[in-house]
Amino acid sequence: MRTEADVIVVGAGPGGAAAARYLAVEGFDVIALEKSHYPREKVCGDGLTPRAVKELQLIGLETPRDEGWIPNRGLRMVGGGHRLEFPWHDLESFPDYGLSLPRAQFDHRLAQHARAAGADVREGWHVDSLIVRDGDGEFVVDKDTAERAAAVRPGGEARVVGVIARETDEKGRKVGDPVEHRAPLIISADGVSARLALGLGIERKVNRPMGVAVRTYIETPRHEEEWMEGHLEIWSGERGSSNLLPGYGWIFPLGDGTANVGLGTLSAKGTPSGLDHRALMRDWLDHSAADWELGEQVGQIKGAAIPMAFNRQPHYVPGMMLVGDSGGMVNPFNGEGIAYAMQAARRATEAAVAARAAGNDDRAYQAALASYARMMKDDLGGYYSLGRVFATLIEHPTVMSICVKYGLPRPLVMEFVSRLLADVYEPRGGNWSDKLLSALVRIAPAA
Ligand SMILES: Cc1cc2nc3c(=O)[nH]c(=O)nc-3n(C[C@H](O)[C@H](O)[C@H](O)COP(=O)(O)OP(=O)(O)OC[C@H]3O[C@@H](n4cnc5c(N)ncnc54)[C@H](O)[C@@H]3O)c2cc1C
Repeated sequence: MRTEADVIVVGAGPGGAAAARYLAVEGFDVIALEKSHYPREKVCGDGLTPRAVKELQLIGLETPRDEGWIPNRGLRMVGGGHRLEFPWHDLESFPDYGLSLPRAQFDHRLAQHARAAGADVREGWHVDSLIVRDGDGEFVVDKDTAERAAAVRPGGEARVVGVIARETDEKGRKVGDPVEHRAPLIISADGVSARLALGLGIERKVNRPMGVAVRTYIETPRHEEEWMEGHLEIWSGERGSSNLLPGYGWIFPLGDGTANVGLGTLSAKGTPSGLDHRALMRDWLDHSAADWELGEQVGQIKGAAIPMAFNRQPHYVPGMMLVGDSGGMVNPFNGEGIAYAMQAARRATEAAVAARAAGNDDRAYQAALASYARMMKDDLGGYYSLGRVFATLIEHPTVMSICVKYGLPRPLVMEFVSRLLADVYEPRGGNWSDKLLSALVRIAPAA
């Protein structure tokens, strides 16, 4: 079995599979190691905004309806006594529709798409640790070498040169012996657990928002409806503005007899809220969404943390890039992460192509790879800084309550806010709200 490549990608969710595809298209020899076997469940809302659809178009993945991709025309928002529909805007830079597809299928198709371009995507390989080289030689990262591993930082001599992986069976149990895999570039796309980054001591930034969300699948006769629905009133306990939580519930129809139904809350500083999200979800559904005639629940309610606004940095250290959730790349305004993981994969590939052109000039090579982190900040840093302010504001129940009650029915306000929340606007030109939003994003410091 081949264990050396130009790039080793760890994790083949949307970030890793997209990276494997883009890199393979550029002629890199890529091995992607994914611990699970497809099709596998991933806790997600399964919803794709036009920003994510654009990423699918850029990567060349077809999305026909007869293969389960259900289009949506916009967002229906429910709250403060209002029920209003906001169609996706007709913009030059984005398609005017969103999509949904269960992640079990989505991730599998993206992985197949990577394979079709020549990437060697291996299922059932769990990466346990990194191999690092420093001035004293090579070592495997573990708790005994943690201090040495923390020296792998931009501009330093120590660099990641490989990974140790073990085969897993269908149940995810590690069954094989440890196998070294080596490459000059490792892409860590291992999701919110960020195991590889943590091994290098790259901790979560505590001044960034984190979400917690739960979801399940529920039968509904409205499963083919072409709207994503968001409920902006999630209460902890008694209904009253002082108990309004920062977050929302969603119903995303999937066209297969069910909808993905879920709920998420936000903490501006990532501090644990102590909330019982499953209980919140049951309470929300008991009081709302009767018009969906929700029937049998299919599967369990499952939850996960959502790392936002670049909460793990640096995104590049010598020999390794963080792509997607491992780098905390989820949008703090809406909890969307697939589009950004795919965008990061695209940018990572651009940097890898530039590094290849640097040839044997190590300084130029490292500088080209490091440009990945800068590109991500240029692309999203300003917008995410705005998102951090937003998260801090809506943590106050009164602010949240005023926004829902008085903001929602104001068309002029919502013209702007719907673009802001979805991150779907014309970056150059467009109407007044596009121009205002791009100006704010430019002014906001990227951090
Ligand atoms: C409840 C919930 C709802 C959400 N709803 C939406 C939504 O509707 N739309 C949206 O865009 N985003 C949503 N998100 C966020 C979205 O799920 C993530 O942002 C997205 O999955 C990030 O992709 P990724 O490739 O970075 O990580 P992941 O999708 O987590 O993929 C990581 C992959 O790495 C593999 N892996 C992990 N560790 C290892 C290892 N050591 N070795 C080998 N493989 C490994 C995992 O098996 C996995 O396949 C939601 C999140 C939650 C929790």
